[in-house]
Amino acid sequence: MWELGIQVGYEKDEKKLREKLEKLVKLGYRFVFLSLFNAEEKRLATDEELEKYSKIVKEYLIPYTTHALFLTDEPDKQPNSIFPYQKEILYKANILGVKCITYHFGLCKGIREGEDFAFEKCLNRYNVSVEDFRKLNIYVLKEICKIAKEYNLTITIENLPSSCLCDLGTTVSDLLKIIKEVNEDNLGICFDSGHANISGLDFYEEICKAGKYLKETHFHDNIGKISNKNEINDMHQPTGIGNINWIKVISAFKKIEYKNPVIFEISSDFETAEINITNWKRFLEIWEARFSNFKWSKDEREDMVVGT
Ligand SMILES: [Zn+2]
Ligand SMILES: [Zn+2]
Repeated sequence: MWELGIQVGYEKDEKKLREKLEKLVKLGYRFVFLSLFNAEEKRLATDEELEKYSKIVKEYLIPYTTHALFLTDEPDKQPNSIFPYQKEILYKANILGVKCITYHFGLCKGIREGEDFAFEKCLNRYNVSVEDFRKLNIYVLKEICKIAKEYNLTITIENLPSSCLCDLGTTVSDLLKIIKEVNEDNLGICFDSGHANISGLDFYEEICKAGKYLKETHFHDNIGKISNKNEINDMHQPTGIGNINWIKVISAFKKIEYKNPVIFEISSDFETAEINITNWKRFLEIWEARFSNFKWSKDEREDMVVGT
């Protein structure tokens, strides 16, 4: 069965970090989603901070992924102006020892609070069309993929909630189109379950579509789109504390023979981490007992003889 991983943010207090990691290992987590940011001081962590943090974390868990922030510079800047920053990010990801780094396609510097849901406003301010901005993102992403190869890093783009960043990357089909255009073999998909639920997507179909391009997950639960504010919708709850159909998720993972660790983008406080792993394991057991023979495609279902 799939190995499990959890997000563990940067923590400068070594004792607190070790206590947390010990509990996560006992619960059964093996992989970790590390952070490039010193959240307390709202800045990128320094190389020294990351070295110390990853050294401690590696004593307990295996680094798998991290999250980048911006993909491009401000929309009206020269495309190459972002590369020194991206080189620094990839260098730092390499210090963490992760395999993947996730980007939001379309996220640029200069964006204001809340504007990812009214992104035309941001682009209008810079007098840039959505089409030109998308092209800029493709160009930058391709260059990032090339730099990332030096570190053996896989770049992933994650599906975003609907109406976010002009819907440039809401569905798996959007992401596959981007991957085709970028055309670099170290670019894949990170499937974010919470975002997919806000977008009202069918989990089985989306994950099957992603297939071999699926390199990592941001799994978390919520109750779908309940507000126009993403921070309210995007609750990052543990598995089962929301209305995501995890049976469909597991079925799709079986279908595509997903082999990478399943990473949860949830808080790593003990209570959340425990609820998450308990519920995830329960869903797996229920799936085995009741759904492992279920036919997911409509044609196969119609061939079944009811009652036999
Ligand atoms: Zn994200
Ligand atoms: Zn995510």
